[in-house]
Amino acid sequence: DEDIHKIRPEYVESFHFMDKLLPSTWIAVRVDGCHFHRFSDIHAFEKPNDEQALNLMNSCAAAVVEEFKDIMFAYGVSDEYSFVLKKESKLYERDARKFHLVGYADANSSISHFSGIVSAMVSFFSSMYIWKWNHFFPQKELRYSPSFDGRAVCYPSVEILRDYLSWRQVDCEYIHILPLPAPVDRNFLQSIGRKSLLPLIVFEVLWYLSCTELPDDTNCIVRLLLISSCSGHINNQYNTCFWMLVKCGKGKCEAQNYLKGTQTQEKNDLLMQNGVDYNALPDMFRRGSCVFWDEENNEPMEVGSKEGSRKRIVIDHCNIIDDTFWVVHPWILG
Ligand code: ATP
Ligand code: ATP
Ligand code: MG
Ligand code: MG
Ligand code: MG
Ligand code: MG
Ligand code: MG
Repeated sequence: DEDIHKIRPEYVESFHFMDKLLPSTWIAVRVDGCHFHRFSDIHAFEKPNDEQALNLMNSCAAAVVEEFKDIMFAYGVSDEYSFVLKKESKLYERDARKFHLVGYADANSSISHFSGIVSAMVSFFSSMYIWKWNHFFPQKELRYSPSFDGRAVCYPSVEILRDYLSWRQVDCEYIHILPLPAPVDRNFLQSIGRKSLLPLIVFEVLWYLSCTELPDDTNCIVRLLLISSCSGHINNQYNTCFWMLVKCGKGKCEAQNYLKGTQTQEKNDLLMQNGVDYNALPDMFRRGSCVFWDEENNEPMEVGSKEGSRKRIVIDHCNIIDDTFWVVHPWILG
């Protein structure tokens, strides 16, 4: 009998407080397709950029932005999307977890479960992806049900949030064109850095170093550390070269070795020789996609208000590393 009383909700809840996202910070929720390397193979995506697959991702992201009104901005590339919530957001009481407990064990209250930010967004995104599949791939049967994972991180200033977004825009495979010590180890991680990205680096490095084993995506942190001039789309340029070589009959390893250490201009030349003008590729391939409201006020439209004043969700392929975009759209980050 006494033991039962030890399992009070307050007691259980006391272990959950760490999952509250820091107040007054920008929350970025990133969803990423699970095993999309395989998913894209099985569904015969065009490599390196399947346009319809990207359009499907963008459409799902727009649905998420429409559903969760606190989202100010979203950025996506490949199988991932980042959703930025406004600083003041109280969505799910800033709970990152699957659910949290409210109410205590007094006679009149019950325990309720609320979906947390991450699980709500990631499940909404996944179900949209499956729901909309047929619209974007009318000729392709969905062979199995894809899923996405999600995580939330808080960024305490606009500057750091923008570093985060820049990091996402500098493409994920950037790492492959840089000469790196192999294998990448902790000493190497600690020995490099860049001034303006430092807070982000410190956060991410501390997080990584707290893991006993370096995780598979250690490359991401290394890439972050190596962004010396964030010029965007470098990774896509690599990918475009890589797949061009593969299409020309080189094996994947061979292509990777061939490209190791080549410089941007060399790769541009290589692409040119093979009739691909990298700079002429669609913006969506080179820059990824941004989703945002076209005006400051994104309140749901009032009944009876004029059609002309309806706020629109914009999908565009902007450079979000330079200041220009943020100067032209001052309402996004406030
Ligand atoms: P994980 O589950 O760890 O995320 P993953 O296989 O999804 O594993 P990612 O690093 O997320 O690995 O890479 C996504 C992969 O999905 C890309 O490397 C690419 O092969 C494929 N992919 C995603 N979107 C597209 C697209 N629009 N066109 C072609 N390929 C794509
Ligand atoms: P929230 O988004 O907060 O979870 P909710 O409306 O989903 O809101 P829940 O507490 O999860 O609230 O309750 C689920 C509700 O869905 C139930 O109250 C019931 O009305 C309905 N429901 C779920 N499963 C069934 C079922 N198998 N048969 C009939 N009704 C169901
Ligand atoms: Mg993943
Ligand atoms: Mg993935
Ligand atoms: Mg990915
Ligand atoms: Mg329920
Ligand atoms: Mg429910």
